[in-house]
Amino acid sequence: MASVATPSSSPSIGGCNVEKLYPRLDFGRRVVVLGIESTAHTFGVGVASSRPPYILASVKDTYRPTTGGIHPREAAAHHVRVAPRLLREALDAAGLGIEEIDAIAVALGPGLGPALRVGATIARGLASYYGKPLVPVNHALAHIEIGRLAACMEDPLVLYVSGGNTMVTAYARGRYRVFGETLDVALGNLLDTFARDAGLAPPYVVGGLHVVDRCAESADKPWPLPYSVKGMDVSFSGLLTAALRAWRSAGAAARPRICLGLREVGYGAAVEVAERGLAHTRKAEALLTGGVAASPVLQEKYAVMAGLHGARAGWPPPHYAGDNGAMIAWVGVLNYLAGVTVSPEEAVVRQRWRLDAVEAPWR
Ligand code: AMP
Ligand code: MG
Repeated sequence: MASVATPSSSPSIGGCNVEKLYPRLDFGRRVVVLGIESTAHTFGVGVASSRPPYILASVKDTYRPTTGGIHPREAAAHHVRVAPRLLREALDAAGLGIEEIDAIAVALGPGLGPALRVGATIARGLASYYGKPLVPVNHALAHIEIGRLAACMEDPLVLYVSGGNTMVTAYARGRYRVFGETLDVALGNLLDTFARDAGLAPPYVVGGLHVVDRCAESADKPWPLPYSVKGMDVSFSGLLTAALRAWRSAGAAARPRICLGLREVGYGAAVEVAERGLAHTRKAEALLTGGVAASPVLQEKYAVMAGLHGARAGWPPPHYAGDNGAMIAWVGVLNYLAGVTVSPEEAVVRQRWRLDAVEAPWR
């Protein structure tokens, strides 16, 4: 079982006025929250504060299967193995002892059951043993809020693209509303499954570039592949099948063109539904978040689209684009300041906890 540790030094973010981002919270109160992320392949621990610099530590370690996709039980075994070390590293990086932490936050969903239960069990244990409040956090909401903090955005239209999610969302009346989403495969999963089944060598992201983005670089024009946007939703399963079929039947010389076709159709469809969301809502800001937000190719397309609508585009740095503990700790701070806590007995994981079912009482 291979895993990759991320250096403890995560870039600092949050140089903006948080009172404008969260007008209903009182940041005069100093609270420090430890956050645990374990929804899928990454185990992450972050420490966040209600006072600058907001993010005090963020460490993570990602499980990478040697063959096939994420096996939930293997991911869980990985998380159990790395958790003690990462908890220690996060507290050391923040320069704090556990007694100086005000609350424990944990991502309770959505995600893979066995993986989620590792984080939930550790968080319940820490909260009970040390007598700390426990703060429930929705993983999708955390991707959005760390993006808002990093890009300093008050009220953006959001395109959230990761290994397990693809959605267009914006805040309205108490919660984030989902305008469009994938009907099947998520954008990151499209890229990773294509790379894996095409036999491209892992790791799939090297030097900040996905292997599909890299393979497309030498193509002169894209291979024609099916494009599927249905209303505000996208569908990538037909694209994946067609790209893999072309990969197997066309000669090796055509491969960069197939990567380019996959990337243009995949990114293009996601940006198209985001554009429609932006045109409808007329937001002045457009946030890109989730693991695939680290793609410089997607960033460029997204920024061009936003510019056409007079909106400012932004995204978090790569460490905070993908799954991380800091985003859980940050929403932990927001929820804790707003009085959202849960008893250890009630802190059960919710594999299908939808973003639009979560109250955002601090907005
Ligand atoms: P997350 O689930 O948010 O951690 O996102 C993981 C997904 O992001 C995986 O599908 C990765 O392949 C994808 N990803 C990570 N970095 C990049 C990148 N630089 N370009 C494109 N996709 C990426
Ligand atoms: Mg994620």
